[in-house]
This record gives sequence, C-alpha cells and structure tokens, in this order.
Amino acid sequence: MSTLDKLDNCIFCKIAQGLIPSRKVYEDDEIFAFDDIHPLAPVHFLIIPKMHLVSMAHVGPEHGALLGRILLLAPQLALAQGCRPYPEGGFRILTNTGAEGGQEVQHLHIHVMGGPRPWLKR
Ligand code: 5GP
Ligand code: ZN
Repeated sequence: MSTLDKLDNCIFCKIAQGLIPSRKVYEDDEIFAFDDIHPLAPVHFLIIPKMHLVSMAHVGPEHGALLGRILLLAPQLALAQGCRPYPEGGFRILTNTGAEGGQEVQHLHIHVMGGPRPWLKR
C-alpha cells in the first residue's frame, strides 16, 4: 500500500493530516490526538501515530519508542482534558485489535476515557 493509498483510504490518516476535521487534543511530529466522535465517557479521546500502523498486531521492536511516547502522553492529556487526578479520578486506556477485539478503524489508536461516572457503556 502506497502512502497515497493510505491517505485515500484511511480515515485516521486523513484526520492526522488535517484532511478530515477533528477536535485536536494534541499534535507533534509523530503523534496526533483528537476527541472521539461518539464519546462513551465525559472525556474520550484517541491517540494515534501519524504513520499508518494498522493495529497492535502489527507492531515490532522498531515501534517501541513511538508506543512508549503515546502511552506516556495518555496521563498528561487525560488531566489536561479534565480527568480528575488519581485515585479519585483516573482514566481508562483501551486498544481494540482485530475483528474479535472490536477494532473498527484499521489505524492503531489508543482510547483514553475518563470523567465522572456513569459512562455510556460499562
Ligand atoms: P475502534 O472500535 O476501532 O477501537 O474505535 C474507533 C473509534 O473511532 C470509535 O470510537 C469511533 O467513534 C471513532 N471514530 C470513527 N470515525 C471517526 C471520525 O471520523 N472522527 C472521530 N473523531 N472519531 C471517529
Ligand atoms: Zn492510517
């Protein structure tokens, strides 16, 4: 798949490129974060690598630093987006992988959810 194909076909590549609008939470040269369009919790945003990585089933040692940076961003962005601090507050990190894992968008993304309960689901 060429870079052009990914840009043509992948909704999250388009969001990371600014070709599809989103409410941006964070951006740097290799990471983009934005609010989920159908939030399941008062705070619900997604963190994605700008590069087209399909899922957690597709990562290798070469992606370790990038995944580490994404995970390290999650608590910082959760607080910045209104999650209360641990232990009363906190947040949930979730990554759906593959059909049986419930993955709907085939570009790796970390869900970060938080805020006062009850949430919409679970
Ligand atoms: P998955 O089931 O793949 O883990 O989650 C995909 C998530 O992406 C869903 O929670 C869905 O609401 C969100 N989503 C799908 N399309 C868009 C979009 O165009 N914009 C935004 N902001 N979120 C989207
Ligand atoms: Zn993509």
